[in-house]
Amino acid sequence: MTTLVWFRDDLRLADHPALAAACEDPDGIVALYLLDEASPGVRRLGGAARWWLHHSLTALREELAARGVPLVLRRGPAGDVVPRVVAECGANAVTWNRRYGAEREVDAALKESLRVSGVDARSFPGGLLHEPWTVTTQAGGYYRVYSAFWRACQVRPGPAEPLPEPTSWTAAPRQPASEELTDWELLPTAPDWAAGLRERWEPGEAAADERLEDFLHLDADEYAGRRDTPAAAATSSLSPHLRWGEVSPRTVWRRALRSGADVGAFLGELGWREFAWHTLFHHPDLHRRGLDPRFDAFAWQEPDPAELAAWQRGQTGFPIVDAGMRELWQTGVMHNRVRMVTASFLVKNLLVDWRIGESWFWDTLVDADAASNPFNWQWVAGCGADAAPYFRIFNPLTQAKKFDPDGGYVRRWAPDSAALPELVDLRATRERALAAYAALGSR
Ligand code: FAD
Repeated sequence: MTTLVWFRDDLRLADHPALAAACEDPDGIVALYLLDEASPGVRRLGGAARWWLHHSLTALREELAARGVPLVLRRGPAGDVVPRVVAECGANAVTWNRRYGAEREVDAALKESLRVSGVDARSFPGGLLHEPWTVTTQAGGYYRVYSAFWRACQVRPGPAEPLPEPTSWTAAPRQPASEELTDWELLPTAPDWAAGLRERWEPGEAAADERLEDFLHLDADEYAGRRDTPAAAATSSLSPHLRWGEVSPRTVWRRALRSGADVGAFLGELGWREFAWHTLFHHPDLHRRGLDPRFDAFAWQEPDPAELAAWQRGQTGFPIVDAGMRELWQTGVMHNRVRMVTASFLVKNLLVDWRIGESWFWDTLVDADAASNPFNWQWVAGCGADAAPYFRIFNPLTQAKKFDPDGGYVRRWAPDSAALPELVDLRATRERALAAYAALGSR
């Protein structure tokens, strides 16, 4: 008797229901991480995400090893690899925390086939505050407007108490061989573009825990007033830790409430994360298709390679756009306000299809998230759930004046930008975008 616990986007030991359940098996556990880029619906990770994953797996492997449990690494489609590992270790049970995107079809098929072969396959909640199918409108449908969604979440019973890390650890006697993490080549080789990521981040559960603690005790009271000021760096920086499940949203939720800090606005942002996942649950092709079907026929411009490269590299001549894109390239994240401004610039001033911008973010963000990234790009483009109205075209000059009045953010990331020629005429491109959007018909 052995239980196999399959780690996915939940690279932690605390508040990990699938791990807690597995550790109840007195005969011991096998811990598996599977790099699956072959199953249908699974999106290949971007470069920055691969960098994070390498380090997060290293941290998880060390924590498990300290408790006497090896981490088994394998590659391949889950439908083939999981049953093979089950056979190798003689497991009679498999546990995992649920996924909510297109991969859930893979999980459902696997669960069925394991059960047919007599293996007890069990899934648990772990990545969200509320399971998506539990938050429904009165008519039984799902919410398309954030405020109504978040109100509905709040009248539901609160998220369950986070589970502590298991106290009893037994490694199963038959441990399957592991692949070498370095053979996966998740880290960049030449050129090594990850210096800025190494400087900015420490992946892993311990670092996530420390970040949460520091935020709640040092910055949380200032959050509501300063969260929209990119130069203040007053937000939590928890997004990659949440993306990789190094801390659970339930833990963040409970500890925030207990901190005594003024956390209402912060919890509301966790609500946006929740809403993005809720939307992905109902639209698994969120990164491919606008929720508003009229956008299928939208008159996007074929991107000019030079213009696209200028946007990607932060060479547009609009300082707040350039600062954001360079912050992203160097650190793997960008302040939320500036994500909106840079995305609006691409989609509305350059009239480039939001999916092209979404893919660039997918490749360069360490917090690249299957729900939040396409959800927010759709929001900016105007085709998503509760999206920005089409006539909201962020003017990068007024945005900079309003949100970076002292210029501290631009000075830090793109001090030379104001001297560059401006890539576009803001007024003319705004008119062009308004005309293209008007052609869609009234909303
Ligand atoms: P905080 O302000 O401290 O917020 C706390 C947590 O709430 C975040 O860590 C995050 O998990 C969640 N959150 C905050 N804002 C949002 C939001 N608008 N949507 C969903 N969740 C939110 N966030 C990602 O986690 N992954 C992405 O791939 C991603 N892509 C984005 C793309 C665009 C075009 C835009 C406009 C936003 C995107 N966001 C994404 C949302 C947001 O920018 C980041 O979550 C935020 O900047 C992370 O910083 P923080 O952890 O300091 O956030």
